[in-house]
Amino acid sequence: MGVQVQYCPECGGELFYDAPARRYACKSCGLYVTREQLTDLRQGIKIDEDERRKRRRQHGEYLEWWLSKK
Ligand SMILES: [Zn+2]
Repeated sequence: MGVQVQYCPECGGELFYDAPARRYACKSCGLYVTREQLTDLRQGIKIDEDERRKRRRQHGEYLEWWLSKK
């Protein structure tokens, strides 16, 4: 029977399945993703980078607003 061992697409570490949360967790790099996100990562879709990009853009807009106030 087998629970197939999954490996982290980011660092190659072993992934642990967090059943209640339905997420995979990597103890090596802290990746914490759903099965869908894991599939995306394997296909080269960088979810984390997208998130980071979004956050940076928001921060940039905030900075612009803040600077225009001065
Ligand atoms: Zn990892």
